[in-house]
Amino acid sequence: MSLLDTYAEQLDQLKQQGNFRQFRSNLQQGRYIDIDQRRMLNLASNDYLGLAADPLLREQFFDQTPMAERYMSSSSSRLLTGNFPSYEQFEATLSQAFAGRAALLFNSGYHMNIGILPALSDQRTLILADKLVHASMIDGIRLSSAKYVRYRHNDLLHLSQLLQRYQQDEAYDRIIVVTESIFSMDGDETDLKQLVALKKQFGKVMLYVDDAHAIGVRGEQGLGCAEQYGVIAEIDFLVGTLGKALASVGGYLICDPIIRDFLINRMRPLIFSTAQPPMMMAWSDFIFKKMMNLNDKRLQLAELSADLQQRVRDKGYDCPSTSQIVPVIVGESPHTLQLAQRLQQAGFYIMPVRPPTVPQNSSRLRICLHSQIEMQDIKQLATQL
Ligand SMILES: *Cc1c(COP(=O)(O)O)cnc(C)c1O
Repeated sequence: MSLLDTYAEQLDQLKQQGNFRQFRSNLQQGRYIDIDQRRMLNLASNDYLGLAADPLLREQFFDQTPMAERYMSSSSSRLLTGNFPSYEQFEATLSQAFAGRAALLFNSGYHMNIGILPALSDQRTLILADKLVHASMIDGIRLSSAKYVRYRHNDLLHLSQLLQRYQQDEAYDRIIVVTESIFSMDGDETDLKQLVALKKQFGKVMLYVDDAHAIGVRGEQGLGCAEQYGVIAEIDFLVGTLGKALASVGGYLICDPIIRDFLINRMRPLIFSTAQPPMMMAWSDFIFKKMMNLNDKRLQLAELSADLQQRVRDKGYDCPSTSQIVPVIVGESPHTLQLAQRLQQAGFYIMPVRPPTVPQNSSRLRICLHSQIEMQDIKQLATQL
């Protein structure tokens, strides 16, 4: 038997289960995506405000950025020679937006989530995480030396029972509660106000909230669910990605200045990886400032989302969503795959999501709405469902 055979067998198994994945070349054209010469409405995009798709924004950015500032590589970590002014500029913008708290940038949301938790935790740390947190946080927890317990998805009562039990446990100096605000796969959301109230009932509890799908989308200034629920100052580690509504790449943390200094000294993916190109930092700063003034787009997206959620439920599907991420939960992978293919043939690019990304028997179509979608599109989509 060749060394490759065991891998080939596992791939065959994935194919039989309908869980085999592969890259597909695609061309993006505004609200459309072209795959295999078929043009489809893009309903799988994280470009929630349509900013990545907007060529005028890019033009404006390049016009105002002189060639001398267009560094395409930082050539090192920020601790060596990579700390270009555009990093400090964008962190200052973030800090000002988020009530003067400290801000720290990372190469990606994934880097951020696999780096922060291991840096902050030791064997006397307990992490309590929502059962459905993103793979990047799971990986961060696994890399840490903390003990790890999951609570039932979005079940703050279960969380409070666990906090009651563990707060008296002498084995732990601190408990870090880890959750998302809007969840990637179900599109439902944590009541952050209630979560903060819960934290305040207990000592030694810190909150780690990933606002990846809410930054740009929620809050009057687009500062995410943290702004919407009025808790920016009360989340110890408020993190998010620049790769979704913010049309760029990277991750950010809003925290206390002590935590910022600590991570600069202890966080391995920050210390041992070349920092992002200064050009991208300047772009993130440019887009972030634009994004804060786009509340009309946010309100429009919320209206579209509520309409689609209702239509999906009216068709008899399970749909927990309260956001622009609207899953249609089907169950079996092969059936989900068939449905996705049929919708794609009808001109709607919707991705099937299967295990292990979601739990067994909860394969689904995952519809991502964004500012380039219109009410008319949603009506047509609903008739296809
Ligand atoms: C997309 C996502 C990430 C990863 O962010 P990247 O910047 O794409 O690496 C992290 N957390 C959540 C909840 C996400 O949805």
